[in-house]
Amino acid sequence: MGSDVRENLESINERIARAASKSNRKKEDITLVAVSKFIDVDRIMEGINAGIKILGENRIQEAKKKIETIGDEVVDWHLIGHLQSNKAKDAVNLFSMIHSLDSLKLANELQNKAEGINKKIHVLVQFNLSGEITKSGRSHEEAYDLMSKLSLLKNIRVMGLMSMPPFFDEPQKARPYFKELRELSEEIKRWKLDNITMKYLSMGMTGDFEVAIEEGANIVRIGTAIFGHRK
Ligand SMILES: *Cc1c(COP(=O)(O)O)cnc(C)c1O
Repeated sequence: MGSDVRENLESINERIARAASKSNRKKEDITLVAVSKFIDVDRIMEGINAGIKILGENRIQEAKKKIETIGDEVVDWHLIGHLQSNKAKDAVNLFSMIHSLDSLKLANELQNKAEGINKKIHVLVQFNLSGEITKSGRSHEEAYDLMSKLSLLKNIRVMGLMSMPPFFDEPQKARPYFKELRELSEEIKRWKLDNITMKYLSMGMTGDFEVAIEEGANIVRIGTAIFGHRK
């Protein structure tokens, strides 16, 4: 990875295309979320000028400032980090997708706020399979109960699943986690719940996105390899 955002982005897009074709998919089937947390507006603008369409942020306050400056006409903003229920209103206003829905309590808050402005909010449910690093995320055992309750919330559209496996120096070691999330999404599909679609699997970051794509990811969240190391 170099210092030039445009070159980094080109190289990431090539690697995404290669990983997609390796698993018999088209590069258009994979959505890149460029993770811009801790990255300043000037550098984010370089990325937008180079073709970034979706930015991922993990803190409301930081995202809000950036969205006020950059706007949401040319790029969509996704929330990828843990969200506290008391920030649900901001989240509903600011983001076109929330990757990190991890509790029914949060879902109820999002439902209230989304209903208030007559919006359908797109979310991914975060799972924490086989003891991943983050404390956020539900377990496999909790899936049916949570999904069937989410299914009743009229202003929430569950579009898929998200996960964040532990960091390994060797990306192949993350493969079982990705596989487990894909299998869970296939299981959820078979339940045929209202308002729940398993269109997206958001998994894979700078260190392991190629393996994630091979295991079925169609959203990858990449920060460091595009913008460089964070301060
Ligand atoms: C920071 C972050 C990423 C991006 O990580 P990189 O290793 O810099 O690509 C992806 N997903 C989440 C949830 C993050 O917090």
